[in-house]
Amino acid sequence: MLKFSSSNRNTILKEMAAEEFDVLVIGGGITGAGIALDAVTRGMKTALVEMQDYAAGTSSRSTKLVHGGLRYLKQFEVKMVAEVGKERAIVYENGPHVTTPEWMLLPIHTGGTFGKISTSIGLRIYDFLADVKKGERRRMLSSDATIQKEPLIKSEGLKGGGYYVEYRTDDARLTIEVIKEAVTQGVRAVNYTKVIDLLYRDEIVIGAIVENQLDGSVHTIYANKVINATGPWVDSLRDKDHSLSGKKLRLTKGVHLVIDQSRFPLKQAVYFDTPDRRMVFAIPRDGKTYVGTTDTYYGNDPIHPKMTADDRDYIIHAIHYMFPTVDIKSEDIESSWAGVRPLIYEEGKDPSEISRKDEIWVSKSGLVTIAGGKLTGYRKMAETVIDLISLQSKDTNKYKACQTKHLPISGGHFDGSHNFVSFIEAKENDAELLGFSKDQYRKLVHRYGSNIDRIFGIAKTYEPNNKYGLPQEIYVQIVYSLEEEMIVKPVDFFIRRTGALFFDIKWVYEWKEAIIGFMNDALEWTNEEKAIYREELETILNDAIHPDPNEMI
Ligand code: FAD
Repeated sequence: MLKFSSSNRNTILKEMAAEEFDVLVIGGGITGAGIALDAVTRGMKTALVEMQDYAAGTSSRSTKLVHGGLRYLKQFEVKMVAEVGKERAIVYENGPHVTTPEWMLLPIHTGGTFGKISTSIGLRIYDFLADVKKGERRRMLSSDATIQKEPLIKSEGLKGGGYYVEYRTDDARLTIEVIKEAVTQGVRAVNYTKVIDLLYRDEIVIGAIVENQLDGSVHTIYANKVINATGPWVDSLRDKDHSLSGKKLRLTKGVHLVIDQSRFPLKQAVYFDTPDRRMVFAIPRDGKTYVGTTDTYYGNDPIHPKMTADDRDYIIHAIHYMFPTVDIKSEDIESSWAGVRPLIYEEGKDPSEISRKDEIWVSKSGLVTIAGGKLTGYRKMAETVIDLISLQSKDTNKYKACQTKHLPISGGHFDGSHNFVSFIEAKENDAELLGFSKDQYRKLVHRYGSNIDRIFGIAKTYEPNNKYGLPQEIYVQIVYSLEEEMIVKPVDFFIRRTGALFFDIKWVYEWKEAIIGFMNDALEWTNEEKAIYREELETILNDAIHPDPNEMI
C-alpha cells in the first residue's frame, strides 16, 4: 500500500483510475471521510476524491464543537439531539487526542433565551437524551458562582447559570484523522481531484470522470455505488445527475472571530444570548478567544465565503452585550473564518430555525446523496448510508455490519481514551531525549496522538543547521504533513494541518517563506506554481483579517 504522502498523490490517482471499486465517495469533508471509513471496514473496496484539500469545505470552518445541539431542543428536535448527543462520547472515545470535553457555561439573564427553570429542565433532558456520563452531568449555578466561573459576564440581570459538558475539537484534524484511518484500512483517496461528470450504463451511475486540479489531467473511476457527500455542493452534483428536484439545499453563512487573550481574557467557554435573541459561543483556545457564529442566507460561491464588516460588527456587538467590560474594536480581530452550512431548505424559516438534521436521497440513477447534518453525527450518518448500500447489494451477507463504533481513528490508538494520559506520560522521556521541551511535546502529542512515534522518527532526521532555519518542532510537522497527510499547498499546512492561520496568525507570517521554500524543495514546484501558492496564502491571510467589501447576498 502506497504511503498517504504528497509525492504519491499522482500515482494513487492513476491507480484508482485503473481499478473498479464497490464504492466511490465524492467529497473529502467529514461526511465523505466517515462514509469511506465505514465502507472499507465492512469489506467494500472504496475510493474517495476531494476537489480541494481534505476538509477545505465546511469541515474546517465550523464552531469546532462535537455537540448535541442543545438549542435544537427549543425546536423540539428531540430525536436529533438524542442521536447526535450520544455520538459525542463515541467521537471522543475513538480519538481523544483531537476531541476534548469542555465545560460550557450558559449564563441566565432576566428576559434571556433560557430561564432558570427551563435551563435546568432542558439540560436535564439533554443529559438524559445524550446518555451523559455521571461526572459530566449538568449543574445549576447561582449568579455568584456564575461570575466566579467567568468574571467578564454581564452582572446586570444575571440570575445564575447552567454548567454542562460539550466537546471541543479541531474539525479539520478530526476529518484528516478519519481519512488517514480509512486509508490505513485500504481506502484509496486523493485530494485536488474534482468530479466533473458522472458515468452511466443503462441510465445507472457507474462512476465518475475526474479532473486532477493540479495538472488538468482527466481520469475515469468506476464503482458499483457512487455517493455524493459534497456538503454545500450536493445540488450541483444532483444537477449533473439530472435529479435536482424535490428537496434542495439552502446555504447559510457562519463567521467566527479570533481575538487575543490579552484583549479578551475569557477563561471559560460560554454559550450566550445575542441582542437579537440568537445564541453564540465564546471559547478560549491556545491563548486566543474565538467567538461565533453568525447565521445569514448565502447565495455566492461556497468555495470562498468571507467575513464582511456586518458579520464582524454583529459579533463585536454581541461580545459587548454579554461582556460589557471587554472593549473590543475591529483592530483587535486577529483572524477569522467563514463557513457555509449545507441546510435542507424549509419554506418560510429564518436561517437559525432551519433543521440541522441529515437526509439521504437516492436518485433514479442510483446516485446516493447525503445532505445536511453536523460534524458530530458523521459516524452515524456514515453507518446509515452504508447500511442502505449493503441492503441494496444482491448478496446481503457479503458485507459486515458497521464496525466504526469502537474503531479508533488515526492517532487514537491507545486501547481506550482512559489510557491517553498514561500514554502521554510514558513518552515524555523519549521526547526529552530528542530535544523537545515539555510544552512542545504536549502540543505535539495532543495534535498527533498515537502517531507521535512517527513524529519522533522524523525528529531523528532533523538537522539544526537546515537551509530554512526551521526549528525541530516545525520541521517534524511539515515533514509529517508531506509524508503522512498529503498536503499539496502551503495553505493546507497553515489552515487544515495546524490550524495556525486561525489561532496563531503571527506564526504563519513568521514562517510562511521558510515553509514555502521547504515545500518547494520537497515537491519540486515550477516557479509559476510557487508564485500561485504564495499568492493564494497571502489572499487567505488578508481575507482572515480584513472584511470582504463586495459580498452580495
Ligand atoms: P464539507 O466539509 O463541505 O465537504 C464536502 C466536500 O466536497 C468539500 O471539501 C468539497 O470541496 C468537496 N466537493 C464538492 N464538489 C466536489 C466535486 N465535484 N468533486 C470532488 N469533491 C467535491 N457541526 C457540529 O457538529 N459542530 C459545530 O460546532 C458546528 N459548527 C458549525 C459552524 C458553522 C459556521 C458551520 C458553517 C457549520 C457548523 N457545523 C457544526 C456543521 C458542520 O460543520 C457540517 O455539517 C459539516 O462540516 C459538513 O461536512 P460535509 O463533509 O458534509 O461538507
